[in-house]
Amino acid sequence: MPGDNRHSAERLSLIVETQRDIAGAGHDLATVMQLVAERSQAITGADGAMVNLLEGGDTLHTRAATGIAATAFDAKRPLSGSVAKYAIGDGQPILIEDTPSDPRINQELRAKVGDRSLICVPLFRGAEVIGTLNVMKKSEEERLTENDRRTLEMLSMMLSAAVSHAAEFEARRGQAEAFARFRTLFEGASIGILRLGPDGRAVEANPALEEMLGYTTSELADKTFREYMHQEDLERAEVLFRDLLGGRRDSFQLEARYSRRDGALVWAHVRAALERDGDGQPAFAVTMIEDITARKRAEEELRRQSELNEHQALHDPLTGLPNRLLFGERIEHAITHAERRSSRLAVLMMDLNRFKEVNDSLGHQAGDELLREVGSRLSAALRGSDTVARLGGDEFGLLLPEPSGADDLLAVIERIRESLERPIVVQDLPLAMEASIGIAIYPDDGHNADLLIQRADVAMYAAKQESAPFCFYDPNADDYDPARLTLVAELRRAMEERELVLWYQPKAVLENGEVRSVEALLRWQHPHQGMLYPDSFIPVAQETGLIRPLTLYVVDEALRQCREWRDEGLDLSVSVNLSMRNLLDLEFPGQVAGLLRQWEVDARLLELEITESTMLANPSRTKHVLDELHALGLRLSIDDFGTGYSSLAYLRRLPIDEIKIDRSFVMSMADEADDVAIVRSTIDLGRNLGLDVVAEGVETREIWDQLRELGCNVAQGYYLSRPVPAVKLQEWLEKRRGAGDEAAA
Ligand code: C2E
Ligand code: MG
Ligand code: MG
Repeated sequence: MPGDNRHSAERLSLIVETQRDIAGAGHDLATVMQLVAERSQAITGADGAMVNLLEGGDTLHTRAATGIAATAFDAKRPLSGSVAKYAIGDGQPILIEDTPSDPRINQELRAKVGDRSLICVPLFRGAEVIGTLNVMKKSEEERLTENDRRTLEMLSMMLSAAVSHAAEFEARRGQAEAFARFRTLFEGASIGILRLGPDGRAVEANPALEEMLGYTTSELADKTFREYMHQEDLERAEVLFRDLLGGRRDSFQLEARYSRRDGALVWAHVRAALERDGDGQPAFAVTMIEDITARKRAEEELRRQSELNEHQALHDPLTGLPNRLLFGERIEHAITHAERRSSRLAVLMMDLNRFKEVNDSLGHQAGDELLREVGSRLSAALRGSDTVARLGGDEFGLLLPEPSGADDLLAVIERIRESLERPIVVQDLPLAMEASIGIAIYPDDGHNADLLIQRADVAMYAAKQESAPFCFYDPNADDYDPARLTLVAELRRAMEERELVLWYQPKAVLENGEVRSVEALLRWQHPHQGMLYPDSFIPVAQETGLIRPLTLYVVDEALRQCREWRDEGLDLSVSVNLSMRNLLDLEFPGQVAGLLRQWEVDARLLELEITESTMLANPSRTKHVLDELHALGLRLSIDDFGTGYSSLAYLRRLPIDEIKIDRSFVMSMADEADDVAIVRSTIDLGRNLGLDVVAEGVETREIWDQLRELGCNVAQGYYLSRPVPAVKLQEWLEKRRGAGDEAAA
C-alpha cells in the first residue's frame, strides 16, 4: 500500500523517538503508558488509542486513553465483553478492518466509540500477557492496516519492556522502602538488635544495643558475644548459637545476662533467627535483645520476699535459729531417715537456768543479747547435721540425727555445757550460764516429733527438779505415762480451738448476800470425752511448760468477760487460779499488766488465787512475782488455805488481800467439831492480819449461817450456786437481784 511506504521511514524515526521519550519518562509507568497511547494514535493516524492492563485475570483496567477512546470506556470493565479477550487469549495481535460486521466486537460499545477499524495487540511481561494496546479509527475510507498492526507491535514491545522495568523498579523501590523502614526500626528500636557473624562477632548493632551494653558497634565488632555475655549463661548460648549457624535450627530464644562495659549486669530476653545468604547457606544470626533487667529485679525481689517470709515463718527472729515449727519438721524428717536405716535420733530440750533473773535485772535487751550468744554457741558446739532451734523464751531444742551411742550423747552434752560455762559478757558483766537438758530418744521414747518433744520436755523438768544438768526421759516414772503426754498435745490443740471455756462461780458477802465477785473455773469441752474438769488436765499442764500459756489464756478470757459485764452495767470482779510456775515466771506480771491494758479493766477487778502450797515451794522467788502483781493493784488470795501449814510470820510478809478456807474444812463443819475449830481460828487469824476471809465449799444453809456467826466475810459453794457458764450466771444474778440478795441468800 502506497500510504505504508510513504510513511515507513517516518514511522521508524517516530518509533525511535518514542523509545527515547519512554526512556526519558523514567520509571513513571503512568506517563509511559500515556505516551505510548498518544504515539500509537499519532503514528498510525488513528482516532483513538488506549492501554489496558489485566487485573485479577478477568478485569480490564484502562490505564491510558487518547482520542475517541478517552471518554467512551469505563476505567474498569470485564474482560469477557471486550475484544481484548481474543488478543489476550491467543497472545496474538488482532486487526479488525471492519468492526461493525465483526462478531468479536461489542457492538453497543462500538456505537458509542464510533470506530470502523481496530487493532488490539497484547502486552507481555516475560511470557505472560498482562494487557493490550488498542488503536481505533473512524474513517470509512482509510482503515487500519497490517502495517499499522506491525507498528503497534513494536510500540507494544517497547511498552511491555517499560512496564516490566517499571514493575521491577517498583519492586526494587518496595524493597528499598522496606529496607528504609527496617533501617528506621533498626536505628530507632528500643530493643537491641545485633547481627552476628559465624565467629560470634557483631556485623551490625543498633543504637539501642550500643546503649544497653555501653559498647559501640565497632567495639562490638572486635569482640565475640562470649566476651560480654555472663559466664553462667554462656554454655547454653554457645550451644544454641552453634546449632543456629550450623543450620540445625532456624531460631532460638533464651534469657541471658550480659556484662555492660561499666560492669553492670543486664538481664535480657534474646530472640535469635538465622539469616541465610543468597545460596541458602547459614550466614548470620540476627538477634533481638530485650532488656528485662527491671522485670528480673522485680521477680528477684518477689522471690527474695517470699523466701524471707518463708524464712520468717520457720525461724526465730531473735537468734535466726529454726523455730518450733521447723524443729518439728526436721525431727519428722530425721525420723523418716532413721526409720529406713533403723538408726536412732535424740531430741534434747534445753532451758537456761536463771535466765529470767538476768532478763529481769539487766533488761530485755541484755536478755536478747544473751539468747543470741547462747544460740550461736550452741550452733558452734554441735555438728553441721545437728539442728539447734529456739522454741521460745529461754527454751532451746536440739536434734541429733545419729548419735552413735550414749557416750556420744554425753560428749555432746558436755560440749554444750562447756560452751555455756565460758562467760558470756553482757553489758560488761561476765555471765556463766547453766542449762537443764532433757533427752528423748527415737524410737525408744516416741515415734513422732510431738511425742519426742513432749518427752524431752518432761525429762527437762525432771532435770530441773533434781537440779541435775540433764535427764533422760524415764518411761518408768509414774508421772510421765503416755496418756498424760498425749494430753499435753491435746491441750495445746484445745487452746487453739478454744475448747477451753470458763465457768463462773459466784461468791456472796455473808452479811447481806451481795454478789460482787466470781471465780473463773476452767472447763474443757472435749470433742470426744465431753466436759472435762480441771483436776484431770491442770496437773499435766503444770508439769510441762504449758501452764504458762494456759494461765494467760484464762486471764485473757476472764478479763474479756469482765469487760463485757462492765459494759452491760454489771460490776463483778473476777478471780483466776494460778499455778506454781506462774509465780516463778518473771515475765508473768508484765503479761498480766498487758492484758489489763488491752481489755481496759481496772486492776482492782482482777483477783489471783494462789494455793498455799504453791507459795511455800519457793518463798523468795514467789515473793518477787507476788510483789509485782500486787503493785499492779490487783487482789491476791490464798486458795485452799489450811492445807499447807503456812507460818503466820511468813504470811505476814506477803502482799495478800484474802484467804480462802479450804473446802475440806468447811464441808465437814456440820459433823466435825475439830474442823469448826480450825475454821474459827482461820477466820480469826485472817481478820487479825486485816484480810478478807472466804469460805469455799458451802453446801448448806446451816453452814452458811454458822460461817456468818463466826465472822467470815464471804462464802462460795453449791448452796449459793455451782460454777455456771457466763450467760447462766447473768440470768441467775438478774433473778436474784430482782428478789433482793438477802432474801435469796
Ligand atoms: P479451787 O480453786 O479450790 O476451786 C474450787 C473448786 O471447788 C471448784 O472445782 C469448784 O467447782 C468446787 N466447788 C465449789 N463449791 C463447791 C461445793 O460447795 N462443794 C464441792 N464439793 N465443791 C465445790 P473445780 O472447778 O473442779 O476446780 C478444781 C480446781 O482446779 C480449782 O480449785 C483450782 O485449783 C483448779 N483450777 C480451776 N480452774 C483453774 C485455772 O484456770 N487455772 C488453774 N491453775 N487452776 C484451776
Ligand atoms: Mg480457786
Ligand atoms: Mg480452793
